[in-house]
Parts: sequence; structure tokens; C-alpha cells
Amino acid sequence: MNIVDYALHRVHLKLPLPIGDSQVRFEDHWLAVLELTDAAGRTGVGFELQQGSPTPALAQLRAQFEHQAWPALKGAQPFGEALRITRPRGGNVGAAAMPLACETAMWDLMGKTLELPLYRLLGGAIGKTRAYGSTLDFHLDDDQFRARLNDFKQQGFRAVKVKVGHPDIEWDLQRLRIVHDVLGPDLDLMVDANEAWSVKETMLRAHRYHDEGFPIFWIEDPITRQDYAGYAQLCNELPFTRINTGEYLGFQGKRRLLEEGGVDVLNVHGAIGMSRAAAHLAGDFGVPVGLGNTIMEIGVHLAASLPECVYMEFSDLVWNRLAQEPVRFENGFALAPERPGHGIELNREALQEFSRPE
Ligand SMILES: [Mg+2]
Repeated sequence: MNIVDYALHRVHLKLPLPIGDSQVRFEDHWLAVLELTDAAGRTGVGFELQQGSPTPALAQLRAQFEHQAWPALKGAQPFGEALRITRPRGGNVGAAAMPLACETAMWDLMGKTLELPLYRLLGGAIGKTRAYGSTLDFHLDDDQFRARLNDFKQQGFRAVKVKVGHPDIEWDLQRLRIVHDVLGPDLDLMVDANEAWSVKETMLRAHRYHDEGFPIFWIEDPITRQDYAGYAQLCNELPFTRINTGEYLGFQGKRRLLEEGGVDVLNVHGAIGMSRAAAHLAGDFGVPVGLGNTIMEIGVHLAASLPECVYMEFSDLVWNRLAQEPVRFENGFALAPERPGHGIELNREALQEFSRPE
């Protein structure tokens, strides 16, 4: 069925506590919510997130969408449009408006058309994937951090990722102590430095965490994203942990990381099509993937459909207020909705409450 209409919403969500890491701090989420409707009246929903600073007003978002995206979508088949492989050349690179929202809405429409949950459409057999609680805690004090960890513990998580990268390594160690204090030592503990360190600093800190009795399941983005040789060195010289990176790299960068042996767990997130391509490539190198945060945890379908996704990230963010029924988590597993498409239906009252056209 062809796409015949669309609706666009501009949403502002205030975060109850700041989130962030050693490099950034956010207190707001600004979202564009896109609904694409086909000739049978089915609607696919997609989201585009902007952290921190406001998106342009709705009228401008709409004008941009109408100019850059709608001409290709209007009258198109979602199947052909979402699955199309384009040639990234010259001025067509990076020119799209709200590419993620468009892609997500089209996959949702495909699932609804075939009456299949998205993970099944993507080839998955079981709608379930291992998940870790991600505290995004760098700007929280120790008590707030402890409360976040307790929330995840209550929800049944046995794996968490916390932020490190403070100039004072004793701060990092104190946070790791709190993790063991709240969750016990029998867990998968990941740390994320968000590019705070050099290769040497990473070595020093990794050894210190290890020596202090904190096994680290993976270290995420310890050094700058394009230091491929540095990442290869870390993978070779840190036998007691894994290196997770790729979050900040596009497809080409991910390919180069794999070619240079600079990654133990490749970080994928965002668009389903490109993430599947990256996961396919990683499989060719025998490297598993980890799924980073996706808006409303829609990525649960992607993670559940991939053969080697070790973990999916869950930060328990305020965006789930927009969902009638958010993705559920039980005993450390994310459960993909069994409803057709991605299964995230909009809560119309919440959408109205948080809509900010201006
Ligand atoms: Mg990260």
C-alpha cells in the first residue's frame, strides 16, 4: 500500500535528572514524531531525537520535511523505500530530513502490513534479548547514582554500564565500589569513558580497576574515535576486558575498525538498515555487536533479530511517557512487543501534553 499522508509533531520532554557523561550534559529531549499513513489507513510511527537544545519550530520542521523527504515518500511503497540501497555520492550524502524517523516509520508500516512484529520481519525467531541498565550518571551525586542502580536492580538487571572518565581516577573507583555495593560483585559491569583518555591513560585505568577487584565486561569508547591503531593496541594488550566502540563512527569508520582489529564488540544503533549492514560486516570478522540506546527502545527488534548481539542498552528515559505500552524488561531481558510493526503506539494524551509547536 502506498504512503498517502503524514503528520509531524514537535515534542519537548524535560528530564527528571540530568543525563550525560565525561563530555556532555543534557536536561531536555526534543523529539520529532513522524506518522506516515498508507492508503489502507495504517500508520507507521518514527522518531528523531535531539538532545539538549531545541529543534526548529514545527512550521520549520514541516517545511524542511516537505522539501527534502516528502516528495520521495508521497505515493511510495514503504517496502521499496526502506529497503532501497542508495549510492552515497557527492551532494546526496547527508542531505535527508529526519532520516531515522522516516526509516523507523516505514519499517513499522511494513510490519503492520504483514501483521508481523518487527523482529520477525527482520528474521528473528525469539523476541527477547539480553539487556543492561545504563545509568548515564556522570552528573549525578553518589546518592542519586545509588538510587539509579537500585532502580535497575529492582527491575531484575544483572548487568549495568556506568560512566567513568573523571580526571580523578579515585572518583571512578568510588563509583565502581558503589556498583558492587548495590548489585554485588556477580554482575557484568561495563564502563564508558566517552573518549576521555589516551591509550596510555586507558591502560593505566584498566589495570587499576582490575587490580582493585573490579572485573570490567567492556570498556566503551576510551579514546578518540578515529585512533584505529590505538584501538587495535588496546584490544591486543588488555586481555582481561573487551573494547566496545563504533558508536561515534559511520559505516566506513566501523569497517576500518574491524579491518584494523580495533574492536571486540562493535557498537551499532540508530537506523535499522545500516545497523544490519554493520552487523553483517562484523560477523564476517567474527566480532559480535552491542546495541546502543534507541528511541523508545525500538532497537529491541533489531537486537533480537541479530545472531550475535551480546547486549542491548536500556537507560529508562522519560521518552517512554509517549508510549501507550513501552518495551518491557524482565530479569535482565528486553522483550520485543508482539504487536505488528515495532509495537510502540503513541499515547495521544501524552503527545498532546508534551507537544510544543513553537
Ligand atoms: Mg557510549
